[in-house]
Amino acid sequence: MQGTAAVVGSGPNGLGAAVVLARAGLDVTVHEAAATAGGAARSAAVLGPGTVTDLGSAVHPFGAASPLFTALGLHRHGLEWLHPPIAAAHPLDDGPPGLLHRSLERTAEGLGRDGAAWTALHRGVVDRWEDTVEAVLGPLVRAPAHPLALASFGLRAPWPAAATARALFRTEQARGLFAGSAVHAVLPARHVLTSAFGTLFGAAAHATGWPVARGGSQAIVDALVADLEEHGGRVLLGSPVTDLAQVRPADVVLLDLTPRQVLRLGGLELPPRYRRALARWRYGTASYKVDLLLDGPVPWRDPRIARAGTVHVGGTLAEIDAAETEARAGRLPERPFVLVAQQGAADRSRAPEGQEVLWAYAHVPHGCDDPAAGERVLDQLERFAPGVRDRIVARVDTPPGRLEAWNANLVGGDIGGGALDGLQQVFRPAVQPDPYATGAPGVYLCSSSTPPGGGVHGMAGCHAARSALRDLAWRRRSPGAG
Ligand SMILES: Cc1cc2nc3c(=O)[nH]c(=O)nc-3n(C[C@H](O)[C@H](O)[C@H](O)COP(=O)(O)OP(=O)(O)OC[C@H]3O[C@@H](n4cnc5c(N)ncnc54)[C@H](O)[C@@H]3O)c2cc1C
Repeated sequence: MQGTAAVVGSGPNGLGAAVVLARAGLDVTVHEAAATAGGAARSAAVLGPGTVTDLGSAVHPFGAASPLFTALGLHRHGLEWLHPPIAAAHPLDDGPPGLLHRSLERTAEGLGRDGAAWTALHRGVVDRWEDTVEAVLGPLVRAPAHPLALASFGLRAPWPAAATARALFRTEQARGLFAGSAVHAVLPARHVLTSAFGTLFGAAAHATGWPVARGGSQAIVDALVADLEEHGGRVLLGSPVTDLAQVRPADVVLLDLTPRQVLRLGGLELPPRYRRALARWRYGTASYKVDLLLDGPVPWRDPRIARAGTVHVGGTLAEIDAAETEARAGRLPERPFVLVAQQGAADRSRAPEGQEVLWAYAHVPHGCDDPAAGERVLDQLERFAPGVRDRIVARVDTPPGRLEAWNANLVGGDIGGGALDGLQQVFRPAVQPDPYATGAPGVYLCSSSTPPGGGVHGMAGCHAARSALRDLAWRRRSPGAG
């Protein structure tokens, strides 16, 4: 199809949209405010020479499973998924950690008397993984293409993860592992629908794994940019868009922005109903990031944890739920839930020989820049890896305010483009048949504030681009139709 497209923002969704449009034949220009493409999937050597730190996303179960990334064949542009020996570990004060292996059987075996229940909960989803992925990474407001897949996934999905964990599991290992996966949604485990996240993340580990990108998450972005350029598109860096006049004339405009930024854009006339929906949009719990360079391996009390790509540092199900509830209520938890990535377990290129890069963030109240949060991250690490403080060679704290200054989409430190609760879980950003249409002719939203939400998979961009292409074809067939 002939025509021109402008994309505002070069996050994975902006680039996902751009490649779909360029492959359809449009002449695509991506306008990116920052000096580097990639949004919250960039990497840099912030901890010193020879190091690679993922500045945003680190672990990519849904990048590896993404139908878009797979269809694009991003390996042709150097993207390689590397798997750690263990997908995730969940250390506890008492007893051994819960270990999430790529193999469902091995995970179940390790969970002892909860093994059968773990298998029963995940087996159906793992067996129908491709259909499930297509269903959950689709625009959720439509008749499901794979009702069976959704049914096997959906029975427990509406339950709070805490209720599912207590009903099905007896050990703190299984309960913690499930709750740790569930709160990737950045919601308390007592919240409805969090079982969906627990089950999906667990099944993802068994089906595709929780890999990192060789050389840093930037490799995902670089592959998308290479694909875009191969199809005649381009990214203009250092090109912040404040008024749509800057990107006109373009037949279609895709905004990789969250609602608050869309409302600030000049030259964009939105229908009042849509404008009101954007104004009501709620941003959620923030992340406070701490990156460390250590002079050797993390001194985990249980050495098996060193082989895990992801570590859920938060203790028992009850503790995790309490910490998430505190953060959501605006109080900095004494013991926050901390997500840790040890990319080195899969990719030795991240730090100089003998050193280790550790990536961590805690869930903290929206906009909470209190440096005490950074200390609490270290206290939590120290709890399960005594002596880790003494190994620190370099440390960079990135509080919510600095995350937002780095990438305007991370409003108040919310890394998901808006809270994933209530209606916002399904109807992102407004209740309407096409979640990507803004109501302004030819202008679409394509960020994680649209379905399927946060994460590096590019699927919001892909669906928004398809919606734009459908409308463009229709406008061409019916000139004067708006
Ligand atoms: C600390 C952190 C950890 C994360 N961990 C993971 C993880 O392990 N796995 C995972 O899958 N996901 C993770 N995520 C989430 C994931 O990175 C995001 O969901 C994803 O990047 C969203 O993509 P996007 O394209 O919607 O927006 P973004 O990636 O946020 O990109 C938006 C882009 O738009 C640009 N922009 C904004 N305003 C303008 C403007 N006016 N003009 C021009 N450009 C503009 C920004 O500079 C940015 O480049 C993490 C995020 C963060 C911050």
